[in-house]
Amino acid sequence: MSNAKSLEQLEQKQDFIRRHIGPSPEQVSDMLSALEVSSVQELIDQTVPASIRLEQPLTVGQSRTEVETLSYLKSVASKNKVFKSYIGQGYHPTHVPHVILRNVLENPGWYTAYTPYQPEIAQGRLESLLNFQTMTLDLTGLDLASASLLDESTAAAEAMGLAKRVSKAKKANAFFIADDVHTQTIDVVTTRAEQFGFEIIVGKAEDAVNHDIFGALFQYPSTSGEVVDITDLIAGVQSKKAIACVAADIMSLLLLKAPGKLGADVVLGSAQRFGVPMGYGGPHAAFFATRDAYKRSLPGRIIGVSKDRLGNDALRMAMQTREQHIRRDKANSNICTAQVLLANMAAFYAVYHGPQGLKTIAQRIHRFADILATGLKAKGIALKHSTWFDTLTVVSDSKYDIIARAIAKGVNFATNHEGEYSISVSETTTRADITELFDIILGEGHGLSVDAIAADVEANGSESIPASLVRDDEVLTHPNFNSYHSETDMLRYIKRLESKDLSLNHSMISLGSCTMKLNATAEMIPITWPEFANLHPFCPLDQAQGYQIMIGELHDWLVNITGYDAVSLQPNSGAQGEYAGLIAIRKYHESRGDAHRNVCLIPSSAHGTNPASAQMASMKIVVVNCDKNGNVDMSDLKAKAEEVSENLSCIMITYPSTHGVYEETIREICDIIHEHGGQVYMDGANMNAQVGVTSPGFIGSDVSHLNLHKTFCIPHGGGGPGVGPIGVKSHLAPFMPNHSVINVPGTNIGNGAVSAAPYGSAAILPISWAYITMMGSEGLKQATEMAIVNANYLTHELSKHFPILYRGRNNRVAHECIVDLRPLKELSGITEMDVAKRLQDYGFHSPTMSFPVAGTLMIEPTESESKGEIDRFIEAMVSIKGEIEKVISGEWSIENNPLVFAPHTQGDVLGNEWDRAYDRFYAAFPVPAVAKNKFWPTVTRIDDVYGDRNLVCSCPAVETYRD
Ligand SMILES: *Cc1c(COP(=O)(O)O)cnc(C)c1O
Repeated sequence: MSNAKSLEQLEQKQDFIRRHIGPSPEQVSDMLSALEVSSVQELIDQTVPASIRLEQPLTVGQSRTEVETLSYLKSVASKNKVFKSYIGQGYHPTHVPHVILRNVLENPGWYTAYTPYQPEIAQGRLESLLNFQTMTLDLTGLDLASASLLDESTAAAEAMGLAKRVSKAKKANAFFIADDVHTQTIDVVTTRAEQFGFEIIVGKAEDAVNHDIFGALFQYPSTSGEVVDITDLIAGVQSKKAIACVAADIMSLLLLKAPGKLGADVVLGSAQRFGVPMGYGGPHAAFFATRDAYKRSLPGRIIGVSKDRLGNDALRMAMQTREQHIRRDKANSNICTAQVLLANMAAFYAVYHGPQGLKTIAQRIHRFADILATGLKAKGIALKHSTWFDTLTVVSDSKYDIIARAIAKGVNFATNHEGEYSISVSETTTRADITELFDIILGEGHGLSVDAIAADVEANGSESIPASLVRDDEVLTHPNFNSYHSETDMLRYIKRLESKDLSLNHSMISLGSCTMKLNATAEMIPITWPEFANLHPFCPLDQAQGYQIMIGELHDWLVNITGYDAVSLQPNSGAQGEYAGLIAIRKYHESRGDAHRNVCLIPSSAHGTNPASAQMASMKIVVVNCDKNGNVDMSDLKAKAEEVSENLSCIMITYPSTHGVYEETIREICDIIHEHGGQVYMDGANMNAQVGVTSPGFIGSDVSHLNLHKTFCIPHGGGGPGVGPIGVKSHLAPFMPNHSVINVPGTNIGNGAVSAAPYGSAAILPISWAYITMMGSEGLKQATEMAIVNANYLTHELSKHFPILYRGRNNRVAHECIVDLRPLKELSGITEMDVAKRLQDYGFHSPTMSFPVAGTLMIEPTESESKGEIDRFIEAMVSIKGEIEKVISGEWSIENNPLVFAPHTQGDVLGNEWDRAYDRFYAAFPVPAVAKNKFWPTVTRIDDVYGDRNLVCSCPAVETYRD
C-alpha cells in the first residue's frame, strides 16, 4: 500500500520544472543548511522586503510537460497559413542551408554563447563576425563595417544619428528620406527624429538637394523595385555638406554596383535573405558600413584584428571604449544586444555559397524577374518601372481582383501602395511559380511559356539593370569565402569555429545582470517549424492566426507577471525597450500639456544603456548618488527631485539594483517621483529576482522593459538576438509603438514604430512562451526562489575568501553578488582582468567584470546551475585566491605567475621554451576537476591597445595566414 503511487502522482507534472532548476532537492537542503535556514521560505523572508511581496500567486496556468506543450503549440502554429510570399519590402523567402540550420541555428554551441567580452574563448564567433564585416565591406564598397545592428529600419535611424554627428552642415536640422524607401523604415526613422528634435522631409529622391539638410536616405533598389543610378543624387546631397545614406538590398548587390562606389557615405540593410528565415519579422541582422573617417561615430560593435601575447593574430571587439557601457550618455547609440547569431548565419551562407554561388543565386532571381516582366509586358500589363532587380510593380485598376485571385492560390503580393501591387521574386522561386504568377495576373489560358520566354530573354539580353550600374568588381575574394563549398568542408569549418568558443554547453557562465540560464531544447524546437519560420511580417492578419494566438497568450502572461496593464512586444532588445518606454513617458507628459518635463533621474549605478537611451529621447540626465551600502542615497534623491520638480519626467531605476540587493526604499522612491509629477521606469533586466515573488507594477512602477533573452530563456546567441518588450500601466498604454504597415491593436494610430516589424522578433517568442507554459505559475516562482538560493549560497561560500561588496537586509543578496577584488589588487598587483583570464584556464567564463563597480566581479549563477557546478566555480575562485596569495607572499613575482600569463594555450604550455615560476601542468590543470573537462583557449591574452592603434576590421590579408 505505502509503495503504491496513484496515477495522479505518477503523472505529476513536475517534469520540466525539475529539469529547468539545477539543484536537486538534496542539494537544496545542503545549501539551506550552509545558509543556516530551515526552508526556502525562510531565506526568501529574510531576503525580499515584506512590503513588496506579492499577495496573490501568478495566474499563468499550471506547469505542462514538454510533450504537452509542444503538441499544443503545434496545433496553434498550424493555424498560420504559410503562403508563398512575393511581398518583398525587406523580407524574402530563402533556403537556409541545412548544414547551417542544424549546426548553427539549432546548435547550443552557437546559440548559448554570450557577447564576446572574453575574446580568448570566443575566437570562433569573432572570426564569423569578421566574415560578416568583410562580406558587408565587399558588397557595400565602403571602408568600415559593424558586426550587426537590430534591423534595417533601426540601422537607417542609426545612419541618421551618425549623419548628424559627422555632417559639416552644422546648422541644418532636417533629414531627408526619399519617398520610395520602405514604409516601415520611414516610420522608424521618423519616430527617432521626433525624439531627437530633427525635422523629417519625405519627398521625391531628386528633391533632396533642394532642402537644407544634414543627411539623406535613399533605397537601392527602391521599395517598388526600380534600379536607378543614384550617383548624382548622392553628389547633390554631399554638395550641401550633408551625409548620403543608402539602404540597399544585400542580394541585389551581387549584380549592382556597390553604393560606396557610387559615393555613398553610409550603406545599410538587412542580411535576412542570406539564409535567415523571415520569421514573421525577425530576428535578422542588419549590416552597416561607412567611411573610415567616421569610425569614432559608428553605432554598435566592431570586431577587429589584434595580436595576442605571443604575437599571433587574435580577434576582439575593437574600440570597446566606444560602447555604451562606458560612454553612457555620450555613446553613439544605446545598442547593446545586437543580432550576432543571425549575422553569423548570414556570414556562413556567404562562406558556403562563395562569390560564384551567391552570384548564381542573384542572377537566377533576376532572370525570373526578367521572365515575369517580359511575359506581362507581352500581354499589355503596365509596369511602373523599366528597371528592376527582383521586384516588379504593376500599375492596375483591377488590383483587388488580382489580389483576390492570388490569395485563393495561396500567394501574397505587396499591396500597401495605392493603385499598384508589387511582386518580389526570391531564391525560392521556381519556374512553376512564374507560371502560377502568369495564371494569377493574366487568368488561365494566357498561353505564355516560361521556357520560351527564358530562351527569348537569353537570346536578346536584358536592360532591366542600367549598364552604368552593372557590377564589375570582384567580391568575397578572401579565402574564407572560397574554401568551404562542399558540405564536409563546411561542416568542419563550422565545428572548428564552434570548438574555439566557450558556451553554456561547456560550463556555467555566471555573468551578473545577463542571466545566463538554461535555454531548454524543447523551448528552441518550435522556432524552426515552417509554420513559424516562413511567414512574412506584412502578410494579412488572417494568415497569422497562430502567431496572434501565441503572441496574445504571451502578452497576457507578461501582463500578469509584471503587474502591468499592457505589453508591447515590438522592441528588439532591452535597450530598445528602454527607448520605447521613454517615448511613452514623453508622449504621456505631452498629452497632459507637460511637454516641458524632460529631466530623467538616473542612479550612478545604472547600466550604460539607461543614460544612452535617455539621451536618445532628448532627456536631460541628472545623476543620483548611491550611498556606501550601494543603495540610492535617499537624501540626494529627495534633493534632486525637489530641485527639478517642475521639469521632472522620470526616474530610471533597476530593481533589484545593479548592486544585487532588494532596496528597502523602492516604494518610497516611487512615491517621491510620483509626488513630483514624474514617472517611474523600472529597468527589468533583473526580473529573474522578481517573477512570482514581486512585480514592477505591484511595487509602483509605471513602465519596464523585460529582457526575454535573460529571464525568459531566449538564448544570447553570442550577443543577440533579444526581445525587449515593455510593460506599462494603463495610462501609458496608448503611447506604445504602433506600425505603419500592420496596425498593432491597442495603441494610438499615430504612434510611430521602434522596429521594422510590428511584433519585432516574433520568431523567437515561442521560446519564452514555451518556458512560461512548461514552468507554470508555481515553477516560475520556484525559479526565482532558487536563483536567490543559489546566489546566496555562492555568496556565503565566497565570502569566506573575498569581501562581498554589497548586501541587503539580513546580510543577504538578491540573485547576484559583487566580489570585491580591489583589496587583493592593492596587496598583490594582480588585477580583476588577470583573475578573469585565469578563470579561462579553469574552464570558466569570467563573471561580469568592473560593472557596476570597477575592480569587481559580479556573479549571477541563476536557478539552472546545480550545486555541483557552483561548487566547481567556487573551487576555482578559491584556488585563484591561493595563487594571488603566493604573489603577495613573494613566492611568485608579479611578472612571473600563472595569473599574468593567463590564459594558457596548448601552444604556450607545450612550447619548447619554459621559464615560468610554475610548472606546465599546473598552468593548464590547476585543480583536478579541470582535467575531466578541459577547455583550451585558442589564443593567449590579447593586446587591445595594439588592435585599436592598427584598426583592421575585415579578414586579414592572405599573407598573414602564410606567416
Ligand atoms: C542587459 C541589460 C540592459 C540592456 O539590455 P539589452 O537587451 O542588451 O539591450 C539594460 N539594463 C540592464 C541592467 C541590463 O542588465
